[in-house]
Amino acid sequence: MGGSFKIGRFSGIDVKVHWTFFLLLAFFAFIGYQASGSAVGALTATLVIVALFLCVLLHEFGHSLVAQRLGIEIHSITLLPIGGVSNFESLPEKPADEVKVTVAGPLVNVVLAPIFFGVGLLLGAVPSMPADLFTGFGSVGQFLFYLGYLNVVLAVFNLIPAFPLDGGRILRALLASRLGAVRATDISSAVGQLFALAFFLIGLLGGNFLLALVAVFIYFGATGEAQMVRQQEQTRGLSVSDVMGTKPRTETVTPDHTFGQVLDSVIHGYQEDFPVVDESGKLVGMITRDEIMAAAHSPQRYSSVRDLMKTNVPTISSQADLFEDGLRILQQSGLRALPVTENGELVGMLTIEDVGQASLLGPLPREMRRLDDRATSRETASR
Ligand SMILES: [Zn+2]
Repeated sequence: MGGSFKIGRFSGIDVKVHWTFFLLLAFFAFIGYQASGSAVGALTATLVIVALFLCVLLHEFGHSLVAQRLGIEIHSITLLPIGGVSNFESLPEKPADEVKVTVAGPLVNVVLAPIFFGVGLLLGAVPSMPADLFTGFGSVGQFLFYLGYLNVVLAVFNLIPAFPLDGGRILRALLASRLGAVRATDISSAVGQLFALAFFLIGLLGGNFLLALVAVFIYFGATGEAQMVRQQEQTRGLSVSDVMGTKPRTETVTPDHTFGQVLDSVIHGYQEDFPVVDESGKLVGMITRDEIMAAAHSPQRYSSVRDLMKTNVPTISSQADLFEDGLRILQQSGLRALPVTENGELVGMLTIEDVGQASLLGPLPREMRRLDDRATSRETASR
């Protein structure tokens, strides 16, 4: 996430803090100072927030460490004013795994609460809430007792079935085993949005602006994740050959083509990246729009394709999974198009647009999946 910086690392997971978190600290220091009229009040309020977010961090590690055990890679945990966010490489696929990963977070708070209550009482805390939070707790014991209470709040709040809060994820996982991932996500995110609206109103009317802010994040989080799941499910199982531009519609060039000929193709056609094949039809490289455009502005403009083409271009098999492999290799290579091969022979090209089109159209009846067999704009490019 932009604007975050690393403050530590544990079990291969970077711990980051977003800069806006310091706005929250400053805000509470100010409130503490106003309420008590002293620096002690400001310091106490700041300490409460820091301690609260340490518990939030442990909660996130609960999710992340269980996910790691299930083989999911975790990049980082970021602390934001609205809570913690774990950055997972992928989400658990099986509903049972999602439940395990999700329950682990609130479980951390359920374990922490009695520990804080116990140690607080041992240190002489009276089992009550402080009358005024920011004029000081009187004792360390009372402060710890209050942290116990905050952990109860964290556990309870996160278990509210307001997707994407933990409770909502558990609800989704329970529904998913019966209704499938898409229906389950749709229902849970609708429930999440209802809760978000309620939180927003309660926050606004009650003057609890942090709650109102959390509500906004829940609302958009629910919407965004529902869309993502729908798209993933709809395009599951599509292979590269389902959407690629097939060979007859892909214009190729040879290393001996002149630069002028390629430039002509770019200007008069729709294709921007060209596979380079030798006389025997073997793929030897690729020449992309970027190289063609760069060359157009340099004295090299009259050189042949051989001098300009990229060699060692990544290729993809026509049978490879469209999203898992096709999109990943496209993104990693930074290319806009990939030559598609079958047994080392060029059979077509897969472009970023092909992948985008597939995710827009969603599931296609098997017989219609070959988008390229239908009349598309690509027609004009196949000369
Ligand atoms: Zn959680």
